[in-house]
Formats: sequence, C-alpha cells, structure tokens
Amino acid sequence: MTRTLSELGGEFAFIKRIARPTRSAAVEVGIGDDCAVVRLSENLLHLYTTDMLVEGTHFSRSYFTPEEIGVKAMESNVSDVAAMGGQPLYALISLALPRGVSGSFLERFYHGLYEVVDRYGFDLLGGDTTRGEGLVVNVTLIGATTPENLRLRSMAEPGDLIVTSGPLGGSAAGLRLLQAGIMGHDQVKQYHTRPRCALDRAAQIIPLAKAMEDVSDGLASEVRNICDASGVGARLDPGAIALREGIETSAALLGDDPLEYALYGGEDYELVYTVDPARRDQVVGSIVGEITAERELFLGQDRLRKFGYDHFLP
Ligand code: ADP
Ligand code: MG
Repeated sequence: MTRTLSELGGEFAFIKRIARPTRSAAVEVGIGDDCAVVRLSENLLHLYTTDMLVEGTHFSRSYFTPEEIGVKAMESNVSDVAAMGGQPLYALISLALPRGVSGSFLERFYHGLYEVVDRYGFDLLGGDTTRGEGLVVNVTLIGATTPENLRLRSMAEPGDLIVTSGPLGGSAAGLRLLQAGIMGHDQVKQYHTRPRCALDRAAQIIPLAKAMEDVSDGLASEVRNICDASGVGARLDPGAIALREGIETSAALLGDDPLEYALYGGEDYELVYTVDPARRDQVVGSIVGEITAERELFLGQDRLRKFGYDHFLP
C-alpha cells in the first residue's frame, strides 16, 4: 500500500520514520537538529546542513530578482549553521535550470550567492548543474564549531526563558503582499525577498543560550521542536512576541492577524533560544515565553494546536 506524506503525518513524522542509528562513532548528532554534528577532533566539530528552494513553492521569479534568490538560498543555510553555534566554512550548490534561464540571470544569481559567501567569509567549492521543469536551488553548507559553543535543540530545561533574537513575522507579511499583488510596502516585501540571518548576533547570544534553533518554519513549530528534543513543554506569551516593523499595517490591509505570521509563517531566520531565568537581564532580543516541565504547549491560556508550515499536510 502506498501512502502519501500527508497520510504518514506530514514532513516531521516522515523524517522521524526514516531516521536510523548512525554507524560512525564520530557522529554526535544525526537527523533531527538544524545541522548534523560530526566530531573531527577533541575541540573541533563539523556541521552539515542542506536546504532547497523550489520555484513555485519557495519563490517566484515574478517577484524575486536573481540576486535575491541567490542571497536567500545561502542565508537560509547559514542560518542553520548559526543555530548550532557555528560558523560557515564550505558550500556546494546544485541547480536545476528550466529552459529560458539566461546567462545574465545566472550571473546575477551568483552575484547574490557570492554576496553572502563574502559577507561571512566562507568558500563555494562545487555543485551540480542540470535541466529541470522549474528552477531548483539546493545548497549544502559545512560549518564548524567547538564543543563549548555547540547548541542543540535538546538543551532546554523547565524554567528557562524562551527568547527570540529579533522581531518576527516579516517574511510571511511580505509574501502575503507579493502574492496579493499589492503595490508599495517595499520594506515589508523585502523581509521576504532579502532575508538576513542572525549569524552576526550569534557571538553575543551563544554564551547565554542553552537550546537554540533558527526560525525557518514559524515560532510555534520551532518551539515545539525544542520541546520535543528536550522532553519539556512551553508557554508562549502572545503579547510578548515582537513583530517586524510595518507588518501590523500591511496585515490590517489584508485582514490578517500579524501574530499568525510570526507563529506559523516562517523564513524569518532569527534565532530562538532558551536562557536560564537567572540571566534574564542579559537577554539579547525579546523574552516570548518559558519552558515548562509539563509536556504541553500553550499560547497564553490556550493550548497550541497549530504549528508552522508543513508542505505535506493539508
Ligand atoms: P531546518 O528547518 O532546520 O532546515 P528541517 O525541518 O528541514 O530542518 O529538517 C529537520 C531534520 O530532518 C534535519 O536534521 C534534516 O537534516 C533532516 N531531514 C530533512 N529532510 C530529510 C530527508 N528527506 N531525509 C533525511 N533527513 C532529512
Ligand atoms: Mg533550522
């Protein structure tokens, strides 16, 4: 009997099903965190992550410039390395190119890729190029960290504060405007088309952070991942979730609740991390809730029932 990904319980349930124990003793973390972690020596860990952008699913050439597609493909991968307390080292990129993609499109796309490579000082070492029906961009990124700086989703404990490194909801707000074809609101649209991950701020955050993850699928989903991995629960305070500037206005125009963008939208690429409550005064960002011993997720007084974006659930 064949079952669809939706019948298997969606993307997250599928990934849990296919994970199996790893062979090499050097693997510290396999499937299940923002990156896999492999120990190269006592003080050096390598991080592996890969993220794919698919035309029509993640972007449209009608409202992304080629440079922006390149930037987003790289920033989203750097974000996963930042979420582990690491620095990017080496990237590989694979492209499926539909007919009609021009040389100048590709030059501009690589300009965007290299903008990010140069921003963080890593190297692009290879890839693959093939023909496809739509444009597909897959980046694999290798990063490095130390055992001291490594931050996992499993490191949260009851009583910890939940902190976001910056305001959320911008990417979903921008996408809504772009898809609705609304003129203006360029700043909000750029939250979607020109994301910038939080690696620049990670050095300040790592000393404080216990569990950490990046916000690629929405705050609700990321907090659920941290809770699942740590065997804890959480209570989010809806009034404390900082929203990106300008999105309340654009959401009102569309009849949307901007808090939903932050909770369920994703692609904001901020960091969400937990902090010992004794260090409340040192927090970088906004305190949006706390970790609880009871393994339930609450948004204020209500149980959280909806999570982030899952491509494979109805
Ligand atoms: P993120 O949002 O941080 O990029 P994902 O939700 O994409 O993470 O993936 C969660 C975990 O599942 C990661 O460890 C990732 O490597 C792994 N994963 C995702 N898709 C697959 C797949 N098709 N096969 C094996 N592992 C996967
Ligand atoms: Mg991630």
